[in-house]
Amino acid sequence: DTFCRQLPKLSSCQELHAHLNGSLSRFTMLELQRYLADNGMADKSNVFLDEFQIGAGDTRNLSDCFQVFNIAHALTSTKKTLSMATALTIKEFEDDGCCYIELRSTPRTTPHMTMSEYVETIVQTMRKETADMTIISCLIISINRSSTHEDANIIADVAIEYHTKYPDTVVGIELSGNPAVGKFQNFLPALDRARKAGLKVTLHCGEICNQQEVIEMLNFKPDRIGHGVCIHPLFGGNDATWELLCKSQIPVEICLTSNVNTKSTQDYNSHHFKELYNAKVPVVICTDDKGVFATSLSQEYRICAETFGIEQSKLARLSLSACNYIFAEDKRKILSDTMLNFINKYEL
Ligand code: IMP
Repeated sequence: DTFCRQLPKLSSCQELHAHLNGSLSRFTMLELQRYLADNGMADKSNVFLDEFQIGAGDTRNLSDCFQVFNIAHALTSTKKTLSMATALTIKEFEDDGCCYIELRSTPRTTPHMTMSEYVETIVQTMRKETADMTIISCLIISINRSSTHEDANIIADVAIEYHTKYPDTVVGIELSGNPAVGKFQNFLPALDRARKAGLKVTLHCGEICNQQEVIEMLNFKPDRIGHGVCIHPLFGGNDATWELLCKSQIPVEICLTSNVNTKSTQDYNSHHFKELYNAKVPVVICTDDKGVFATSLSQEYRICAETFGIEQSKLARLSLSACNYIFAEDKRKILSDTMLNFINKYEL
């Protein structure tokens, strides 16, 4: 247990799958709520703060689970509160021992911001307000599966514009949102355009069973995929989806507690991490929505070690290998050198 708390604190633990509006802690939400109230902008949805968390026994269905993000969205609709949410969340990851984060968020038009201003606000917060922190923060721009073709193209344009202006900060684009809604093929042109402009791509893949879509996504050759639940035949995939993933060696962002709490996975013991790890598919431990699922990166590492009996040296190497999958290619060596120092120091 002590080791798991030290691992991220002393090494180069990286968070590669964290949605900003799902990562807000209760403390952060209360800070935002207070700011809005003090400035005469209190929102009625604030009274629903208690419904933000989804625990293991939650009875809400998948679509209802996605409603919780509206609670966070009501709090991050102004430039000031979006900036506060970004800075406070990055600080919480740093306090947990994380030294590199690729935070992701979906640009929204609100009464106070255009999509472009939404991205500008996060980017400037990362570049200025978190500049004195030791953690390195980057942004992955999300496209929601429920968005229109037109909005997806606008988001791709904004992502390309900001990646061109700030290539160190805006590093990728991704597809997320309720997996029961929308079709990957409709977003392929926007994602492909962003990739051709230099953005890395990650896709939420196989969150619910849809073998045809899994094949389409893997054939697109994203740089990483998120979750990857329904790919192995034991979990709703088939031989074709599993073989394609094993052959492609696309790294999978693993979100243990998220999958258990949303019932994509029965429990920790039967999580597909085991199959991926044993088959030597690259994996990286992530939180997904640490506010919604009341977790942290160090807790996810601890759960992984305890559930699958992964000894310290192997856990450290898991984190070391994940340095190769970060989107900011120029930071890979710095992170892996830090991790190697840690491994040597503790003779792992
Ligand atoms: P935002 O992009 O910063 O607004 O973060 C919240 C959004 O992330 C949600 O509205 C969803 O679109 C997306 N999201 C968060 N968790 C998940 C997940 O487990 N699967 C798919 N999409 C998710």
